[in-house]
Amino acid sequence: MPARILIVDDTPSSVKMLAAKLTNEYYEVLTADAGKAALKAVEEDAPDLVLLDVMMPGIDGFDVCRQIKLNPQTTHIPVIMITALSGREDRVRGLEAGADDFLTKPVDDTMLFARVRSLVRLKRMLEQWSLREETSERLGFKVDTVDVLDSGTGIGAHIILVDDSTVQKSNIQEILGADNHRITVIDDYDASGKIVDIGGDVIVISLSTDTDAPLRLASRLRSLEPTRQVPILLIGDTEDMDHFIKALELGVNDYLVRPIDKHELIARVRTQIRRKRYQDRLHANLMQHLSMALTDSLTGLHNRRYLTTHLASVMGRMPEQDKPVSLLMIDLDHFKKVNDTYGHAAGDEVLFEVGQRILRNIRGFDLAARYGGEEFVVEMPDTPVEVALGVADRLCEAMANEPVKISGSKDKISVTLSIGVAESRDGNETADKLLKRADEALYEAKHAGRNRVIPTPPKTARDAPETRPG
Ligand code: GH3
Ligand code: MG
Ligand code: MG
Repeated sequence: MPARILIVDDTPSSVKMLAAKLTNEYYEVLTADAGKAALKAVEEDAPDLVLLDVMMPGIDGFDVCRQIKLNPQTTHIPVIMITALSGREDRVRGLEAGADDFLTKPVDDTMLFARVRSLVRLKRMLEQWSLREETSERLGFKVDTVDVLDSGTGIGAHIILVDDSTVQKSNIQEILGADNHRITVIDDYDASGKIVDIGGDVIVISLSTDTDAPLRLASRLRSLEPTRQVPILLIGDTEDMDHFIKALELGVNDYLVRPIDKHELIARVRTQIRRKRYQDRLHANLMQHLSMALTDSLTGLHNRRYLTTHLASVMGRMPEQDKPVSLLMIDLDHFKKVNDTYGHAAGDEVLFEVGQRILRNIRGFDLAARYGGEEFVVEMPDTPVEVALGVADRLCEAMANEPVKISGSKDKISVTLSIGVAESRDGNETADKLLKRADEALYEAKHAGRNRVIPTPPKTARDAPETRPG
């Protein structure tokens, strides 16, 4: 799908010229000739980017930009302000209104297209993130809507400055330091490893006499996982335009032209910090939802979905590893009676306590899951059945020997477990099959009188194909 770009300008000839250029580059173009119409179009047509003229009758460009950015529904749409004004003050005013960039007429085509591509790419990425949010919501998780405006003032960040010029270095450091950022200065353009270790919120790179080194660094930072999403801002001279264009293509987020204007530097850095914080929060939300989707809320153990998925991958790797996997299938004995006697809430407490005792009796890389109502499974990679039986026995005793204390009652509830144990050494066995065998062993443990551990008969004996006479 081609990106959709809204051109807002009250001069028809300007609109026509820009529209022609963009259509030529296969963008879908929408137009508006005034602020009010622009805001309507932004809401109704959801453009991927807005090219916004500053001087218009009625609501001017600054106001339009501010309103786009203040509306949670449209705040992610990048805005490039375009104007005949070239004063730095207006540029800063635009950036402070939330504009992602500010270009002056006549607009250099190559630069414009590089900018447009880079911002559209960013918007598409953010859209992927919000899609994940929607999925979380559909899965039933309460989504705290991440508000871009709430992602803070864009101050108080950790900035890494890569610069090999002593004078400029301290100038930048002073400006950003005054905006309450912490700054780590690096004067080596080959120090990507060090930058990864430091892990700042924004990376500012000054172009130096050897212009290739900074771009190589930017490219390297984009390819390394920990810094892939960290905003990069480039600082260079007017003659560096070609490098800026190349940098934007590489994934650098923004650039600034010397001589450094204090307010412009501050505004551009803040924009990047706000975006980074917004993205970080989306990411944290997603991680939280993922872990919720895979955790049993009552016991805090993994849930059945997680266990089956994980077991499948452990067993998928078995042929290479040549190591057995053992499973414990655990079921509480006569648990219905606990509920009937003490109530469901007490039953829940017992389930939680069983989960805790399981966790206390297994090793760090064993995986404990609540498999069903009062059924638990422990997956033990790299564990032969003899060892698993030992763990199961210990667990049985741990439950039987110490009745569970329930809150708000003097009573202690006696709980016992039945456990079926199965081992797989066969790379061809599926997770389902192994779970089924453990369940069969559990069934036998119940039949044999409960409060005990029963292993499955060796698989070969049980599953040997019947030989038919003749
Ligand atoms: P057996 O020894 O044969 O396993 O008997 P049992 O009573 O444990 O087995 P049954 O399957 O008949 O009953 C399981 C009970 O577990 C019934 C159900 O109410 C209870 N249960 C399942 N999930 C929960 C839960 O989340 N909380 C509570 N309190 N009880 C639960
Ligand atoms: Mg039971
Ligand atoms: Mg049961």
